[in-house]
Amino acid sequence: MKTIIQGKEEISKTDRAYIEINLKNLCHNVKVLQNAMPKKCELMAVVKAEAYGHGAFYISKYLNKMGIKSFAVATIDEGIKLRKYGIRGDILILGWTCVNRAYELKKYDLTQTLIDFEYAYELSRQGVAVKAHIKIDTGMHRLGIPCEEFLNVKKVFSMKNIKISGIFTHLCCSDSRNPEDIEFTKGQILSFYNLIDILKASSITIPKLHIQSSYGLLNYPELNCDYVRAGIALYGVLSTPDNDTKLKLDLRPVFSLKSKVVLIRSVKKGDSIGYGRSFTAKRDSRIAILSVGYGDGFPRNLSCGRGSVKINQHIVPVIGRICMDQLAVDITDAGDVNCGDIATLIGAEESNVLSAPVVADNSGSISNELLCRMGARLPVRIE
Ligand SMILES: *Cc1c(COP(=O)(O)O)cnc(C)c1O
Repeated sequence: MKTIIQGKEEISKTDRAYIEINLKNLCHNVKVLQNAMPKKCELMAVVKAEAYGHGAFYISKYLNKMGIKSFAVATIDEGIKLRKYGIRGDILILGWTCVNRAYELKKYDLTQTLIDFEYAYELSRQGVAVKAHIKIDTGMHRLGIPCEEFLNVKKVFSMKNIKISGIFTHLCCSDSRNPEDIEFTKGQILSFYNLIDILKASSITIPKLHIQSSYGLLNYPELNCDYVRAGIALYGVLSTPDNDTKLKLDLRPVFSLKSKVVLIRSVKKGDSIGYGRSFTAKRDSRIAILSVGYGDGFPRNLSCGRGSVKINQHIVPVIGRICMDQLAVDITDAGDVNCGDIATLIGAEESNVLSAPVVADNSGSISNELLCRMGARLPVRIE
């Protein structure tokens, strides 16, 4: 579990770098997403990878208190952690779990995704009654029973130790508004419902259905499922800066990354800074050292001016190479900066340069990856 710190005082005295979580915005996003969903559809909060780097403990506890009763994680150990935090409701494991751990699935009341037919068979053979959702592959070709194999899907419903409470598929290009991708996605949705019709025709009681993740909801809001599995949208950002979506929701970022100025130094024109001497001062300069680096999750490829940070309302460039635990910024033009000042590296309140999608894009990635890498070393401060 991550360290939880409350109160500005403590942060300013002791912490070199930290994540700031805005729970008001999280609450807002939940309501906005719920309003965009059909009446009977439930929000399944995806809290894998430490809730996308936000800290699974506080996020899940808060969501649970708000009335969210359905969670998704990637691994059994993430699921067990949630139970140890006291999270109630359904917890679906989206990825593979070794069948030897069937007893733990039962003990912690976790729901396992059946990733293919053989997996379901092996899990049932463990002799422990386990809750499960069947995953159907409709074109992503990652996990799931191929949608054409309806005989196998039917067989899973009669497996002795498998208690099916859901069936779902995953869309692989629902983020795209390109006509070919829309065509493909509609094909995935159709294949899924065709399979459901076949099951109905065989008198199988249909369990809860789900198809959409964040972009599935934003681009295919007309679907009428039992759950939406929302991750990135819940945290109030899109994956990339210029994403066009059919539904435009007022989502608000939950995450900020902040760090303290621990040293200020003057360098002479011609001096180099950092590893590899990759930055040379073109003028006499003032440099601030921030106590945060790629060991905290801030991408190293934002080195050498590709990234910037905000100090006292000034946007200043990262100079030289980002280290594991420190980085340098040029504050020559940033006015009066002092040791102990707080720099924002990713800002929940920023609409442009420091928003997660833009920072991620500058580092050649998407917000999802940028945020979930922040899970390891940083303490979390709750706003
Ligand atoms: C991670 C994941 C999600 C959440 O995706 P977002 O795009 O973050 O909403 C949904 N479904 C599955 C199967 C996932 O693995």
